[in-house]
Amino acid sequence: MKIADKDTKAVDLVRAALEKAHEFEDYHCFISMNEARALEKAREIDEKIARGEKVGKLAGVPFALKDNYLSREGVTTAAAKMLDNFPSPITATAVAKLEEEGAIMIGRANMDAYAHGSSTENSYFGPTLNAADRERVAGGSSGGSAVAVALKIVPFALGSDTGGSIRQPASFNGVYGIKPTYGAVSRYGVVAMASSTDTMGCFATTAEDVDLVMKIIAGRDEKDSTTLDDYWTQELGEIEAPKKKIGLIRDCLGEGTDKEVIKATRDYAQKLEAAGYEVEDIEMPILKYGLAIYYIVQPAEVASNLSRYDGVRYGFRSNDANDLAEVYSKSRDEGFMAENKRRILIGNFVLSSGFFDAYYLKAQKARTLLILAYNEQFVKYDALLCPVAPSPAFKLGEKTGDPLKMYLEDVMSVPPSMAGLPALAVPAGKTEANLPIGVQLIGQRRSDQLLLKIAKDVEEIQ
Ligand code: GLN
Repeated sequence: MKIADKDTKAVDLVRAALEKAHEFEDYHCFISMNEARALEKAREIDEKIARGEKVGKLAGVPFALKDNYLSREGVTTAAAKMLDNFPSPITATAVAKLEEEGAIMIGRANMDAYAHGSSTENSYFGPTLNAADRERVAGGSSGGSAVAVALKIVPFALGSDTGGSIRQPASFNGVYGIKPTYGAVSRYGVVAMASSTDTMGCFATTAEDVDLVMKIIAGRDEKDSTTLDDYWTQELGEIEAPKKKIGLIRDCLGEGTDKEVIKATRDYAQKLEAAGYEVEDIEMPILKYGLAIYYIVQPAEVASNLSRYDGVRYGFRSNDANDLAEVYSKSRDEGFMAENKRRILIGNFVLSSGFFDAYYLKAQKARTLLILAYNEQFVKYDALLCPVAPSPAFKLGEKTGDPLKMYLEDVMSVPPSMAGLPALAVPAGKTEANLPIGVQLIGQRRSDQLLLKIAKDVEEIQ
């Protein structure tokens, strides 16, 4: 990516990004723009450079920010009516770290409200269009971020991934997207979805650019006690895969997976072989429970996290409420989208005293078995390979009427999330109709950089 220096002006980088954002306005990547402040910051950086002062590693680099990251620049809506006009009092740690290095946020990227969804059609502000085909979905929930990078409006964008929200839109739009190890990046200042699987990552067009951004935002943060010590320290070139072996998860290539997706995954396996890796088919039958585990645990955490929106402390309050009970019920009824409410209902159901053991506890036990099944594979393999999603980008409106169909989109992306593992979505070709297809490399905890190195090895032979 281009960084401001003596020859490249930050103002030009930011202006070019803003112009492109306007040119592609009808894709609806952004909920709001940060134009004036972005240009002002760019000017400050140019002045510093002119004075010969030191500037950061991402000086003048424009980026798009998923609208669930709090920032004191503008409002943070999480694409929900509930937060439609929420000026944040704080800035998320990841954003603050990028700003310290001179990166400049040009706008807030569209998403499914509260990150609930797989298409960015659940946004209160309307859907984002796919970068390759405007009749298709962007993927979700970080659809705006993915499309902004795919259209080359910005060289990178931040997203969040709880069960696929970075990887799936990355794969639908033909860019890289990383869901790091749980705890790699601070969640401080990001609107919570499901706290035990929320991860913060980014989109970019090369493995090196992903690494550059992640190196900056990863690391321990005293404001998020689940963050890990900073392990994102190597240069990709220095990394050697210890086993040079990849397991191809055959369970993901059966019935229900689009033929072109299967072919792209097999083709990518061949490229891995050409890059010096041995690839073996493996079976992980437990993966068939992944979706069921996720759609119990995640709504339970959503129900808890969304209980703070009571119409009293902050966010939307209904104008029709006549007493306190109505402040709660009407504000929540009017402020949440149908999908948010569905998850609150499911979550409270699986946590209720009569059903807790049968659903929530059982799901947590199955989750442990899933973690163990992955661990077993990592004794033998550096990483596992499978598609990101069963199909390429689907048509707008195709699944909005059928929540279960929409949830099925997540069947391959949620298992690594439940296990807290890093997973990298890598562009792996296109369908005959020119729709991008992505595969994912899944590794053991803290092996994020190894995944990037493996992808880079493949990039280099192409
Ligand atoms: N599509 C998944 C869901 O709707 C994942 C969302 C996410 O990762 N934020 O739950």
